[in-house]
Amino acid sequence: MPDSKNLFERACRVLPGGVNSPVRACRSVGCDPLFVTKTAGSKMWTADGQELVDYIMSWGPMLLGHAHPAVEEAAVRAVRAGASFGTPCEDEVLLAELLCEILPSVDMVRMVNSGTEATMSALRLARAYTGRDKVIKFHGGYHGHSDCFLASAGSGMATLSIPGTPGVPETFVAGTLLAHYNDLAGVRQLFEENPEEVAAVFVEPVAGNMGCVLPGEGWLSGLRALCDEFGALLVFDEVITGFRVDLGGAQKRFGIDPDLTCLGKIIGGGFPVGCYGGKRKFMERIAPCGDVYQAGTLSGNPVAMAAGLATLRELQKQDYAALEKRTLELATELKSILESKGLPVTLNHVASIFTLFLTEGPVTDFPSASTADGETFAKYYAQMRAAGVNVAPSGFECSFTSFAHTDEDFEKTLEAARAVSL
Ligand code: PMP
Repeated sequence: MPDSKNLFERACRVLPGGVNSPVRACRSVGCDPLFVTKTAGSKMWTADGQELVDYIMSWGPMLLGHAHPAVEEAAVRAVRAGASFGTPCEDEVLLAELLCEILPSVDMVRMVNSGTEATMSALRLARAYTGRDKVIKFHGGYHGHSDCFLASAGSGMATLSIPGTPGVPETFVAGTLLAHYNDLAGVRQLFEENPEEVAAVFVEPVAGNMGCVLPGEGWLSGLRALCDEFGALLVFDEVITGFRVDLGGAQKRFGIDPDLTCLGKIIGGGFPVGCYGGKRKFMERIAPCGDVYQAGTLSGNPVAMAAGLATLRELQKQDYAALEKRTLELATELKSILESKGLPVTLNHVASIFTLFLTEGPVTDFPSASTADGETFAKYYAQMRAAGVNVAPSGFECSFTSFAHTDEDFEKTLEAARAVSL
């Protein structure tokens, strides 16, 4: 059987960078990717025969653990009935009903195929509903790879954006306004400078793409109030936080009522799914009920719906508080191990998510997250991986635990960390 090195060499000839999504290439930590052949629970096995305890969990979806029997069984049963129908099926209705039941702010949903599609479509809806074009997002916030969201601040002009990648016309991101996470005054300023032009504020209610950054006291409720004051929609991007920080997502945990919610990852149980939903008055604008067009050949795919439904039903039986407590214990111990090696460490944690930033902290936004020491992190990553612990290959990603992680997994992780030399 080909090993990871061999597969990566071949992959690089036919896939840009050898991968289908950039971070997987492990470039920022100076490693080559591991090719995985099998997963179960908290573990993965590579083409090289190595067993690893996984803290990436497919970048969030596998909260129940990899290859959960109930999810596998549901998906296999579904696939036997056919991979795709192109007509409605019962599981779409059941999953939509369950999402609306569990998420406090959601009356209706539309299924799509990725988180990117969810946020892109929610933005279109917000623009249509408000008749405005601009959108506020936050530095270090990630909402998928559609043009409008790929903006970074340009030349110190706080209210203007330049594209974060070639291929995005400047005009496409000119309406993307950037503020810092946890900076309400900055958001107010953007609203005041763009009167009656902002359609929506898009926020990760716990930021997960600059590492884990928690909403400060009053941040999310302040955004809600500002959106109400200036007539914009508040859109929670719960692609990571949905069903993870609480069964009812961040909106339940923090008691905030967003207008629209974007979901993905967990609701597909590992299959390609995204979804956006919200209050009926907004969602009824979506075609064919309303006039805002959005469609998808494979949207509501029966296999993905079955897997998502099985996942959510299993999650309803799980003890979130217990996993949160165990995750905090693990992360706290990891922090003290790294500190004992003379490193500055800031731990940000919520539920089954944590990031150890190698910096003094506090880490409350992208600039403070950016002070973390990437070089030392790269050494940590490589040694942990060699010892059989798969952490995310970037200091700006979260570690995820799952309901399948055992105390033995955590002990192995701590032992690996103790042995790391930095
Ligand atoms: N929003 C958030 C908060 C995400 O973390 C991601 C992906 N990591 C996306 C949107 C995009 O989702 P996808 O990769 O499924 O397109």
